[in-house]
Amino acid sequence: TSAGGTDAAGTATHCPYCALQCAMTLTPGARPGVLEVTPRDFPTNRGGLCQKGWTSASLLTSPERLTAPLVRDTKGGPLREAGWDEALGLVADRFAAVRAARGADAVAVFGSGGLTNEKAYLLGKFARVALGTSQIDYNGRFCMSSAAAAGNRAFGLDRGLPFPVTDLDASHAVVLVGANPAETMPPLMGHLDPARLIVVDPRRTATAQAALEGGGQHLRNAPGTDLALALGLLHVALVDGHLGTTERVAYRNTRTRGWDDVRRCAARWWPERTERLTGVAVADLRRAAGTLARASRAHILTGRGAEQHSKGVDTVAAWIDLALALGLPGTPGSGYGCLTGQGNGQGGREHGQKADQLPGYRRIDDRAARAHVAEVWGVAPETLPGPGRGAWELLDALGTAHGPSALLVMGSNPAVSAPRSRRVLDRLRALDLLVVADFVRSETAELADVVLPVAQWAEESGTMTNLEGRILRRRRAQPPPPGVRTDLEVLRGLAVRLGRTEAEFPDDPDAVLDELRRASRGGPADYSGADTARLDAGHALYWPVRGDAVTGGAVTGGVATGGALTGDVTIEDADTGSAATGATGGEPGAGTPRLFLDRFAHPDGRARFMPVEHREAAEVPDAEYPLYATTGRQLQHYQSGAQTRRVPELAAAAPAAYVEVHPDTARGAGLADGDPARIVSRRGSVLARTRYDATMRADTLFLPFHFPGEGAANALTNPALDPVSGMPEFKLCAVRLERADGD
Ligand code: SF4
Repeated sequence: TSAGGTDAAGTATHCPYCALQCAMTLTPGARPGVLEVTPRDFPTNRGGLCQKGWTSASLLTSPERLTAPLVRDTKGGPLREAGWDEALGLVADRFAAVRAARGADAVAVFGSGGLTNEKAYLLGKFARVALGTSQIDYNGRFCMSSAAAAGNRAFGLDRGLPFPVTDLDASHAVVLVGANPAETMPPLMGHLDPARLIVVDPRRTATAQAALEGGGQHLRNAPGTDLALALGLLHVALVDGHLGTTERVAYRNTRTRGWDDVRRCAARWWPERTERLTGVAVADLRRAAGTLARASRAHILTGRGAEQHSKGVDTVAAWIDLALALGLPGTPGSGYGCLTGQGNGQGGREHGQKADQLPGYRRIDDRAARAHVAEVWGVAPETLPGPGRGAWELLDALGTAHGPSALLVMGSNPAVSAPRSRRVLDRLRALDLLVVADFVRSETAELADVVLPVAQWAEESGTMTNLEGRILRRRRAQPPPPGVRTDLEVLRGLAVRLGRTEAEFPDDPDAVLDELRRASRGGPADYSGADTARLDAGHALYWPVRGDAVTGGAVTGGVATGGALTGDVTIEDADTGSAATGATGGEPGAGTPRLFLDRFAHPDGRARFMPVEHREAAEVPDAEYPLYATTGRQLQHYQSGAQTRRVPELAAAAPAAYVEVHPDTARGAGLADGDPARIVSRRGSVLARTRYDATMRADTLFLPFHFPGEGAANALTNPALDPVSGMPEFKLCAVRLERADGD
């Protein structure tokens, strides 16, 4: 298949699910509407796909697919089919009525890290311009926000991996903190040598198992102690003399600020203290610190396990501090990065669907940024709303006296994926108007007053930005079924009915990308050079990718990228599979595979150490709730499972909720392997099958978060928020375990 899109060999595109965005080719199948998936060689997946990718086309022909708008005439009444004119007219009229009665902020928007860049961009514009509301945020707040905040603080710029995935191939030591790619994005494991892995996780995950079997390490720390473990490793690296090399001293002196404060923090985490708190033996600490420090090329990567805590930002900061002490960030062949989860987790946070940001990854409270974006949008800067509520505060305010009473949800299923999900269900039910754009009746759509059936990934084009910050083309392989519209068409239809013009809200993805490029120009995430011609020609466009007219142009938006975030490197080219020299950064239209090689993005070019201290989780086990519960993903499912639970092969392999528990702990609760169990936290309870696992810590339960109803793990989770990122404490709460029948 050519790089340029569809030809006789099929349509070159990328997987609809996670942030690895594996490359695939879609070809017509035996029956009309059925597409065959073939893996495509690409630097990230090298011809690999996981089960989710292989089966991704089956949802296109799912019998559960929606092909007509649904409208509920009365609260509690049934959903009935309606025409598009009726549905869009009803939504626009009621949005306008709510706005007139209670003000613009009474209408809210909830987006998604799964939306294309174009959709994320137009959704943000729709909220700010068509609705005039500040109340927009998205499910990425629950995903990447802690790492993003820590990255911005440390480096002055956040891009998940500031280097290509292929750099990991040659790494001599890779620390994975709270990440389980063997299940969440299996092709990534092809870049990781198990012998060189150090996996930090309270569970013996598939990734930890691979490390152990390959000669690497698994540091099985207590839940909520990742931060202390980082400080403990830093302490050992310091006292064992690993940080005093000429190169590392020079790096800290010339490329960073704040080392002395961090050194003082680490000084208190002598190995025995670290062992007492984290449960990681001193010998294992020393081995890990030595492996990491002796590696001439090394990486530290964080995932949701480290980030989804009420101290998520500080936890990531501690691991970045360790990376900076070792001189990794901005050094060729080494670095710190965050493994983004959602398909467009990276691009989704850059184009203005976040409560506090405008396109180009600009701050919404930055005057220059507001002026620039307002000019592109053709509105007065003072008409743009200010920052709104973060995702949890927004969901928790719905239907209350001071919160929004109407909500548009696009590409998300917060009824299952939000923390304290039973409370969220109540809040969604309390709305005067809930509008959901989706292609199936997700649990959130089931509560909606209006459901708008939208196209799937293979039926529309657009761009995605993968976990490396690399912009990719998603291509349309076939039209949507009759009765289905694209999200862009939905936004245009609503905006026009709310008094905006068709020119302001194009529904052609290429036209939206052109506008996005102008809006992002000069911002931290500059896409101005990411035109479809370059993308189709197979250029590897990692942002910032500047357009012809903005070489060396002024940077606005509160975060300066500087002019020399370059990587003079040889990279594998994108869709062509050829090799190309990626002279980057200053060249118009060339992307930036590696950030920070010459300077970090703070105005003085230096990274910041961030002194942080361990603190307990918002909730810890006690007599009433004596166990930790942690949540995560299964190989077969993605996010809330709204999609993958409807793929027969995946549903058959992973059909229902379960609780993974050490046999001794289970027997203590009177539970045999396979027994129905009840898990209870202060916020709710869950029913799940007991699954014995002798590798579990005796004090910790694990539940997958893909299931709704009685098995909804998020009924348990704690919405205690990180004060900086607004990230809820998904990864840790206190629970008790009991027999479901109460005997
Ligand atoms: Fe690749 Fe992720 Fe899709 Fe699996 S779900 S095929 S790892 S992009």
